Amino acid sequence: MSEGAGQTQAFQADVAKLLHLMVHSVYSDRDIFLRELLSNAADACEKLRYDALKDPALAAAPFVIRIGIDKAAQTLSIEDNGIGMTREELADQLGTIARSGTRAFLDRLGAQGEGAPEENQAEESQNRAPGLDLIGQFGIGFYSAFMVADHVDVLTRRAGSQEAFIWRSDGKGAFSIAPLPLDEAPAHGARVVLHLNEASKDYLEAGRIERIVREHSSALAAPIELVESEGAEPRRLTDGVALWTKPKSAITEHEYTEFYRDLGGQFDEPALTVHWRAEGRHEYTVLAFIPGSRPFDLFDPARQGRAKLYVRHVLISDDADVLPRWLRFVRLVVDSADLPLNVSREMIQESPLFAAIKKGVANRLLQELTKLAEHEPEKFARVWEHFGAVLKEGLYEEPEKRDALFSLARFATSTHPEGGRTLKDYVAGLQPNQTAIYYLLGDDLKRLGSSPQLEGFRARGIEVLLLPDPIDAFWVATAVGFDGKPYKSVTQGAADIKSIPLQKEEGAEKPADEPPAAGLATLFVLMKQTLGEAVEDVRASDRLSESPACLVASDHGPDRRLERLLADHGQLGASTKPVLEVNPAHPLILALAALVGAPDKQKVEDIIWLLFDEARLVEGEKPADASDFAARLTRVLFGAASQPAA
Ligand code: ADP
Repeated sequence: MSEGAGQTQAFQADVAKLLHLMVHSVYSDRDIFLRELLSNAADACEKLRYDALKDPALAAAPFVIRIGIDKAAQTLSIEDNGIGMTREELADQLGTIARSGTRAFLDRLGAQGEGAPEENQAEESQNRAPGLDLIGQFGIGFYSAFMVADHVDVLTRRAGSQEAFIWRSDGKGAFSIAPLPLDEAPAHGARVVLHLNEASKDYLEAGRIERIVREHSSALAAPIELVESEGAEPRRLTDGVALWTKPKSAITEHEYTEFYRDLGGQFDEPALTVHWRAEGRHEYTVLAFIPGSRPFDLFDPARQGRAKLYVRHVLISDDADVLPRWLRFVRLVVDSADLPLNVSREMIQESPLFAAIKKGVANRLLQELTKLAEHEPEKFARVWEHFGAVLKEGLYEEPEKRDALFSLARFATSTHPEGGRTLKDYVAGLQPNQTAIYYLLGDDLKRLGSSPQLEGFRARGIEVLLLPDPIDAFWVATAVGFDGKPYKSVTQGAADIKSIPLQKEEGAEKPADEPPAAGLATLFVLMKQTLGEAVEDVRASDRLSESPACLVASDHGPDRRLERLLADHGQLGASTKPVLEVNPAHPLILALAALVGAPDKQKVEDIIWLLFDEARLVEGEKPADASDFAARLTRVLFGAASQPAA
């Protein structure tokens, strides 16, 4: 393609899909396109402010974002005097998807089983296109322009460059980029021109634009002006004073929320807003939010944080390493008065001053969470529900925060499966002679609650923490305990709960110390022989009351769940053998003991193996050998079915 002519390029596949959704959306909150474009314009100003630190030649007139209405041309334009884009940047940034929120949005659509965009078009036009209600949860960036425009032009000149370009697209799969005479482009920055579609002509009304700007974009750090018609005087709509620099008393709840939405790329309400100014040795301001819902990519290791670091109002990094990992769900702005501006981003983040800020921020956020837990327990419960699994990482990663985090932690337990129990509650409810805090690890709360391992504990009224998150296996292993009580896995070693009395109402129970029936000792020997290398031992259990058998870790081995986690991550070679614990009072075991020595050896052996596999199954594991398991089950079922009816 010759120079001068527009060069046409196809959008990346994901973009095409997103655009299709935009164009075909009858999404009610189309207004968000404006906040997205204004937010980009403000970001472009922030970037130039930063670059101008190193290259004062770039420093320019005060930053401003100007919205222009042209009724004759039926266009709405958004122009900034920020950094602008080079030809490559236009192609890369407006042809692919950079924003993590947009990616998460598309992934969610994918997860809903969306077909190719071209399919089902007829049905889609009837209803809203599938997934559109999800858009509201994400910032979808530049492409939201195609909700209101038939085609979009971006006229831009990168600050310091002698070339300008125009990017155009009708949002139907391709875009073109062509050189633009310098006198038609902004001196530096970008002008986004929206050729409004038929349904969106109401955005040519000044009143409407003004309302949207005040409502959604008043906290942006560059002032916004409106030019109501060609040649009219610009009118200032917002002051361009960054929100966090204002006194708290001058900020409304609504302004905080809008700022959070812009910062977090989420469209919900923050669960907690904390705005403070640290004074003394270091001076900095922090405006932090805990999101009201869980971001979809919370556990994605590649996920970018949303922590903006400013130094004296200049944006240094929009993904600064301010937060410890266990607070990575917090969205925040930190503005330091003391950090040096004239060194690189990387060096700033390595400075001891930055480390002090990090520490201060983490401490303060932990304090605020503690306050919330005390004063607004219901609100805190929701925060814990969304982010508890992340906060618990702190128990493992940051021993000095452990006590504070232990007092925050909320658990589902065997006696309170609905959750919300604190360790303090737990310790207050200890049974006589109970010296440990018992826990059961797993991956599914429901399955944990019905685990046979809990039976003996239930019968004694002992509460057991149900721990369903992968991180749980790690902190319980490192933590010394709580309130002088060590943590103890109910699936590890002998249960040692005989000294805790059975509860009266469970009177149907056999007394724990009744000597095992004579045949049992022989049965255990036979079971051990039959199972051979599959188990370390077979022994009578005091943790079971309803189930015939369960598997536990040996006294000295790691918890079985931890072992499985390590094995899944290739951290562990050979796994240790479990102990099969058998309920000596269970009718099946007693009946089996009576069969020992009977001529039908096969049957006894089948039942022993099936007991073992059943114990694996209730823990969410597979039978030791699926085809053996099936053959045995069939034989035993056949035996039962062919027995004459009683
Ligand atoms: P995001 O802003 O979250 O990165 P967008 O889709 O809104 O996602 O924008 C994509 C990219 O395009 C931005 O990251 C930025 O690099 C570039 N961009 C968008 N608008 C502008 C603008 N007005 N000036 C300079 N660059 C811009």
